[in-house]
Amino acid sequence: MNRPSAAHHPSHLIHRNLRHMPPVVGSASGMIVHDRDGKRYLDASGGAAVSSLGHAHPEVLAAMHAQIDRNAYAHTAFFTCEAAEELATRLANDAPGDLDHVYLVSGGSEAMETALKLARQYFVESGEEQRSVFIARRQSYHGNTLGALAIGGNEWRRKPFAPLLIDVPRVAPCFEYHDRAPGQSVEDYTAALLCELEDTIVKTGPARIIGFCAETVVGATAGAVPPTPGYFRGVRSLCDKYGILWIADEVMCGMGRTGTLYAFEQEGVLPDLVVLGKGLGAGYQPIGAVLARTPIIDRLRDGSGVFMHGHTYMGHPVAAAAALAVQQVIRRDNLLGAVTGRGAVLRTQLREALGHHPHVGDIRGRGLLIGVELVRDRDTREPFDPALKLHAALKQQAMACGLMVYPMGGTIDGVRGDHVLLAPPFIASDAD
Ligand code: PLP
Repeated sequence: MNRPSAAHHPSHLIHRNLRHMPPVVGSASGMIVHDRDGKRYLDASGGAAVSSLGHAHPEVLAAMHAQIDRNAYAHTAFFTCEAAEELATRLANDAPGDLDHVYLVSGGSEAMETALKLARQYFVESGEEQRSVFIARRQSYHGNTLGALAIGGNEWRRKPFAPLLIDVPRVAPCFEYHDRAPGQSVEDYTAALLCELEDTIVKTGPARIIGFCAETVVGATAGAVPPTPGYFRGVRSLCDKYGILWIADEVMCGMGRTGTLYAFEQEGVLPDLVVLGKGLGAGYQPIGAVLARTPIIDRLRDGSGVFMHGHTYMGHPVAAAAALAVQQVIRRDNLLGAVTGRGAVLRTQLREALGHHPHVGDIRGRGLLIGVELVRDRDTREPFDPALKLHAALKQQAMACGLMVYPMGGTIDGVRGDHVLLAPPFIASDAD
C-alpha cells in the first residue's frame, strides 16, 4: 500500500500518529491478524495487552450475536440486562473478600475515573468532605482522560495538559531494576519505598487523603514491572493505619494476564477498589469495570442512595455478553494455568535467546505480561537517548517482519528506558 504523505493524507480519521497511517486491518483469527493487503502478523502483544483469547473466538462471537439478536442496547436509566447482571455476579464471585460490587463502563480510563469519584463520594457521604487528595506513583499510567491523566505519573503524556490537571503527590514506583541500590537487600529497598509513602501521607495530612493509586504490575510506562515481595502488604497496612483507600489499577495486569484472575491475589492482600479494562472484554467489545468492597457501596446506599456518576453506554448488553463469554472460556479451558506455564516458558526462551545481548538489560514480568528492557549499556543500565525514538523504529521494524509487539519508552522527564512489552493471547501455543 502506498504510504500517503502528510500533506495529502487520504483519511478523514484522526490517527494516533498524524503523519503516519497504519495498515488497514483485514481479517483476524486466533494469534494471526491479516491486513487488507494480505500481509500476516503474529499478535505477540494482544494489541496492547487486550486480546487475551486471540481473535475471532467462536464462543465469544456467538454470545455477542445472540445478545444482538435479542437486544443490542438498553439505557441503564430504564433497564438492567441479564448479561450485565450475570457478568457482575461472575466477577464478584470470582474476586476474593468482599469485592462484591461491580460498576460497568466502556474502558480503562472511564473505569479509573469511576474509581476516583466513587472513592471521593464515599468520604463525602462519610462526613469527611475535606478529603480531596490522591497519592500516586511516578512512572505510572492510569488512562488518558483528565482525571486519570492527572493521577498518572507519565510526565511526557501529562505535560501539554498540566494546567488542566489536579495536583497529585507522587512517590517512587516499585522498580527494582532501576532503583535498588547495589548491595541493598530487596527487604531494605521495599522498606524504603514504604517509608517514603508513609512520609508523604503524613506530610500531606492523612485526613486530607482519599486514596493511594497504583498498578499492581506496572504496564505500559515501565514494561511489566512486578512489585517486590511484601510491597503491597505494606501499602495495605499503611492505608489501614491512616484510613485511606487503596485503588488497584488492574486494567492491564488483571483478568488473568499474570496467571491469577487479579494480579493482587499473588500479593495476599485485598484492595478497596479494583479498576479493570482491556482483558475484561478481550477486545471483543469496549468494556471496563470497577470492583468495590461492600462497606463503600453500603455507605452510599445508606446515605444518598445514588452514585453521582453514569455514562450512556455503561452496562452495555453486547459488551457485557462478550465479557461474560470471555470469562467463561478462561475458566472452562483452564487458561489461568496456561498463562503461568506459557509465561514461564516464554521468559526462559527470551532469556536464552536475548539474555546476553549487549543491549538487553532485563527480561521480567509475570504470567504473559512480559517486558524486555533495552539499554545502551548493560552494566550502567544507561538507557538510549530518547531522541532516537528507538521504540517507534522497533515497532515499525517488527510490523515489517509481521510481528506485533508493544515497544514504549525513551527517557523523557523521568520516564526511564525503552522496553518491549509482550502480552500474547492466553491461547498461544508453544510453536507461536
Ligand atoms: N490503566 C492502565 C494500567 C492501562 O494500561 C491503561 C491503558 O493502557 C489504562 C488505565 C487506560 O485504559 P483505556 O486505554 O482503556 O482507557
